[in-house]
Amino acid sequence: MAIRPYIVGNWKMNGTRAMLSEARAIDRAAQRYMKVEVAVAPPYTLIHAVHREAEQIGVGAQDCHPGNEGAHTGDICASMIADAGAKFVILGHSERRQDHGETNKLVNAKIESALDAGLRVILCCGETLETRDAGDAEDFVLRQLKVALPAFADPSERLTIAYEPIWAIGTGRTATVEDIAAMHGAIRKLLDETYGEEASSGVRILYGGSVKPENAREILSTPEVGGALVGGASLSAESFLGIVVAASESEDA
Ligand code: PEP
Repeated sequence: MAIRPYIVGNWKMNGTRAMLSEARAIDRAAQRYMKVEVAVAPPYTLIHAVHREAEQIGVGAQDCHPGNEGAHTGDICASMIADAGAKFVILGHSERRQDHGETNKLVNAKIESALDAGLRVILCCGETLETRDAGDAEDFVLRQLKVALPAFADPSERLTIAYEPIWAIGTGRTATVEDIAAMHGAIRKLLDETYGEEASSGVRILYGGSVKPENAREILSTPEVGGALVGGASLSAESFLGIVVAASESEDA
C-alpha cells in the first residue's frame, strides 16, 4: 500500500495568536506538496483558530485526558479537542511522561478514549540515553508499545507511531540512520505480530528528534521511516516547509 509521508509539527507550549500567520503560510505552501500529508499540533488555545486557517493541513492536539467529562480541573478530554477542530492527538510524548509521570497504561487509556471520540492518534515512544547505552533500547521501546497499543482490528487509518529517542529531542543530536532503521524495523515487526501484516502496513512510523531541513532527506529515505514528528523546526513556516519539501523530494527519488 502506498502511503504518503506524514510530516507533523508539534508546537509544544509555544504560540499565541501571533503564530497564526505561520500556520497560514504552512497551509498555503502545503497545497503545493500534495504527495506529503502535513499537520500541526498547536497548544489547545490555538486549535480552533488554526483549524479555521487550515484549508489543507491537519490540525491536532498534544494530549488529552482519558475520561469523557467530569471534575478534572484544568484537563481537556478527547471530544473537546475534536469539537475545537482537532482531527488527531499526540499521546505518550516523552515530555508528558517526564513532566507528568504518564505511564504506558495511562497512555493506552488516553488512546482508547481518543479513538472513541473519532480522533486519529500519534503514539510516541523512545528511550533515554542511559537505556540506549545499556543496550536495552529496543526492548524498552517494544515494552512501551506492547502496553500502550490500542486493541482494534484495523489500525491503518487511525494509528501512527512516532519513535523519538529522548536524547535526540531538542538537543540537535539525531540517531544514526542505522539505529533508526533497526528500531523502526523492530516496531514494524511488533505491529505485524499485533495487527497482521496487511493492517500494519498502513500504520506509518515517524521519526522524531532534531529533524531539520538539513537532515530531513537522509532520515526520510531510511527504510520504514514514514515521516517525521518535528518540534523546534516546526515553529517557523520556513524551516518546517524545508522538511515538507525534503519529504516530497524523497517521494520523487
Ligand atoms: C518532539 O518533541 O516531538 C521533537 C521531535 O522535538 P525536536 O524536533 O525539537 O527535537
